[in-house]
Amino acid sequence: MSVMVPSTTPAQSAGHEALESALFQLDRAAERLGLDDGLRTMLATPRRSLTVSVPVRRDDGNMDVVQGYRVQHNVTRGPAKGGIRFHPATDIDEVTALAMWMTWKCALVGVPYGGAKGGVTVDPAQYTTQELERLTRRYVSEILPLIGPDKDIPAPDVGTNEQTMAWIMDTYSVSAGYAVPGVVTGKPMTLGGSLGRAAATSRGVQIAALAALGRAPEGVTVAVQGFGKVGAGAAQFLADAGCKVVAISDVTGGVYAADGLDVAALRAWVAETGMVRGYRDADELGLDELLELDVDVLVPAALEGAITEANAPRVRARLIVEGANGPTTPEADRILAANGTVIVPDILANAGGVIVSYLEWVQNLQAFSWTESQIERKLRDMMESAYGEVKSVAAERDLTLREAAHVIGVGRVAEAHRMRGLYP
Ligand code: NAD
Repeated sequence: MSVMVPSTTPAQSAGHEALESALFQLDRAAERLGLDDGLRTMLATPRRSLTVSVPVRRDDGNMDVVQGYRVQHNVTRGPAKGGIRFHPATDIDEVTALAMWMTWKCALVGVPYGGAKGGVTVDPAQYTTQELERLTRRYVSEILPLIGPDKDIPAPDVGTNEQTMAWIMDTYSVSAGYAVPGVVTGKPMTLGGSLGRAAATSRGVQIAALAALGRAPEGVTVAVQGFGKVGAGAAQFLADAGCKVVAISDVTGGVYAADGLDVAALRAWVAETGMVRGYRDADELGLDELLELDVDVLVPAALEGAITEANAPRVRARLIVEGANGPTTPEADRILAANGTVIVPDILANAGGVIVSYLEWVQNLQAFSWTESQIERKLRDMMESAYGEVKSVAAERDLTLREAAHVIGVGRVAEAHRMRGLYP
């Protein structure tokens, strides 16, 4: 009998490209900040990186073995923080890139965390709920030495949700011998989740988009790529603000309505059928077409590498607000900047998630809770103040918003390294 060994990262995987983008952005920021080579190398290298094999018992009695990862890119400013992704194409390079972006994001918005990310190379759609529970619990057991409310606090990302977080909280708590809600954020309310967390990333995207628009949102046309936790909420909040959301896609296809989509009706359709495709009150739209529509605002809220040098010259939106992490490659960035397109970068635009995760963790550590309006106010204040800082650094130094955001984020982490000094 031959044994299938899970493959390792292919040289040209999407993850490899994401890591190259993240390293390029770091390099440019380090250059602008005048960081020395030693510190640059330290910031380019994850602090801890764990790869685990996760055996999963399928419902039919067979066993699968999938690969899992947890990368702590930086823990200088506080415990590591970052989501866990279940996706068939995730690999160690992608998880490392996402962990690095978390480090800069946390520093940029001023939450006292380092950056981390986790991933399991699996298609959750191919697993039953029971199988996903066993997979999650075994993955968590394998990374258990790394996580904890003072060490590393996971959260939801692509392919995971509040149920996944509940299993993580339970697995960790059983091992500790008492309930530890602060080990994970994005939990259900009954387990110490925070009001406003589920919508936080999308709410943050709305706040960033409206700040960058610089005009009344009424009638502003919007296209949203990805209709998951981030994209669906962002579409809803932008429509609520008065924008006309004309196009939406998920992995199955896109839909278009020139007069604006009824986002709530589309959400109900997706809840019923599991996909955007087939929604009756709109025209069909190709996945690539959505990115090139003549709209005012484009919100990529799916995966990395959506806008590349191949399609960037055809992107017509004047404003891009990155709900996803790493949706625009550095080559595309250059083309878009030359065309005058403004990009609110991922580490700013989607920071609402980690901001309210931080608020959830603070509530857990203190065993109290804030009201939804208190959470919303804090989120808005932190998003608007981060946006204001990025905007003024961009203006002062003649940088794009992404370049400015990286100068601020990387600069704060570098300063923390300097102040702590090098042990021993
Ligand atoms: P999700 O799994 O809930 O949704 C992902 C969506 O993207 C799905 O609708 C899927 O069908 C769609 N999609 C995948 N490939 C696509 C393609 N080629 N074209 C169009 N749609 C496609 O994931 P999510 O939590 O919404 O995360 C989306 C992005 O936002 C990721 O980059 C994630 O890292 C980032 N993000 C998420 C959070 C969070 O709180 N969930 C916070 C910050 C950033």
